Amino acid sequence: MPLTNMQVRDLENVVHPYTPLHKIRQTGPMMLDSGKGIFVRDDQGKEYIEAMSGLWCTGLGWGDEELIEAGIEQLRKLAYYHNFAGKGTEPQVALAEKLKEVAPVPISKVFFTSSGSEANDTQIKLVWYYNNAIGRPKKKKIISRMKAYHGVTIASASLTGLPYNHIDWDLPLDFVKHTTCPHFYRFGEPGETEEDFVARLVRDLEELIAREGPDTVAAFIAEPIMGAGGVLVPPETYFPAIQQVLDRHDILLIDDEVINGFCRTGNWWGAQTMNMKPHTISSAKQLTSAYAPLGAVMIPDFMYEAMEQASAKIGLFGHGFTYGGHPLGAAIGAKTLEIYQKRNILDHVRGVTPTFLKRLHALADHPLVGEARGRGLLGAAELVADKTTRRPFDPKAGVGAQCAKFMEKHGLIVRAIGESIALCPPMIITEDEVGELFDRYERALDETEAWVNKEGLR
Ligand code: PLP
Repeated sequence: MPLTNMQVRDLENVVHPYTPLHKIRQTGPMMLDSGKGIFVRDDQGKEYIEAMSGLWCTGLGWGDEELIEAGIEQLRKLAYYHNFAGKGTEPQVALAEKLKEVAPVPISKVFFTSSGSEANDTQIKLVWYYNNAIGRPKKKKIISRMKAYHGVTIASASLTGLPYNHIDWDLPLDFVKHTTCPHFYRFGEPGETEEDFVARLVRDLEELIAREGPDTVAAFIAEPIMGAGGVLVPPETYFPAIQQVLDRHDILLIDDEVINGFCRTGNWWGAQTMNMKPHTISSAKQLTSAYAPLGAVMIPDFMYEAMEQASAKIGLFGHGFTYGGHPLGAAIGAKTLEIYQKRNILDHVRGVTPTFLKRLHALADHPLVGEARGRGLLGAAELVADKTTRRPFDPKAGVGAQCAKFMEKHGLIVRAIGESIALCPPMIITEDEVGELFDRYERALDETEAWVNKEGLR
């Protein structure tokens, strides 16, 4: 298909993240134009079920009038003000109060950013600041996991455990150490039970801490369910087992709820779904249902006290972003949380989850699918060359990307993470829409299977 004028203008002017830049000139970008509910339209008028909530973030779907009004009202009233030097705005207060009310663990204060990366960057700084304040200046290292995703700033990209965030970027920075990914299907060894697997991950972590020196390890950061790594669900016993090790060595647990948070996994927080008891929490994305950029770091009492002491020593707390807690984002965030509560979004998610997971798990019967996994309204099917041996396709064959293309042809936007085809639909999705989503998904899987056979890719 020849490129449209808009695609040509786009290619001449815009850099597309997470895109094969060496190929995009042939296909052109998909230009999105409008959205309503769980649907978006491209600029040629084709409608799609947006089964990824954009980037795992438009929990309330598109065109929610109440959210739009909340934003407009705030822009009219006070379009901008910062929170530096003791200033404040009402929307931030309202949102911080609400976050504390729904938090999975007691929280003292909320520090606002404009993104998830900034939130995780801030987490590292706060952990360092805290340890300096209480006289443990050597406790600086942060442990993350392979396949984790925590953002793209220099520090948060270091936390991320994916090769394309490190290779040729000279990352990770030295203070970040990665331990084993808790995805049993891929990283379990032949003959190993899930229980053995968790025991091995505990040993791996113990060994890493011992190698680095327990008095140098400050924190462990984890998404309850890994999102951008491929929707990787750890065994139920993983976090309780890991946490015993962390507690023994006085290592803080940072919970990255940027994707998992706000009802997505069938609870307010992924930490509740995966038995995690964090000390601090990062959130963003569904915090505003993505109607405006915003991130939040939720800080416990003991850390805030140390921050106050440090501030007394130095003269002030030296960290903050011009747009952190922007009134537009904060007003929309406060309204988003109000909507989650008053429209009982959690109950709705729990209501449609059985249908979603039934259809998702049924994909495992397809000849291409090695594993179909998920919790709540978050899932993925992993395509494999051989179901018995779990042998993956050669990444160069681009099977996942081709499958996503077939899905687009059928009016379904998903995310191909390598060969894992992820789903994270707006949480307002109805039972019927879940049915339609999976009908389209299955049609595209069949087409992918035919293409794989035709190309001889097994
Ligand atoms: N943490 C997690 C778990 C994420 O999935 C993401 C983004 O996808 C981030 C952090 C980074 O957030 P942002 O892209 O808003 O910087």
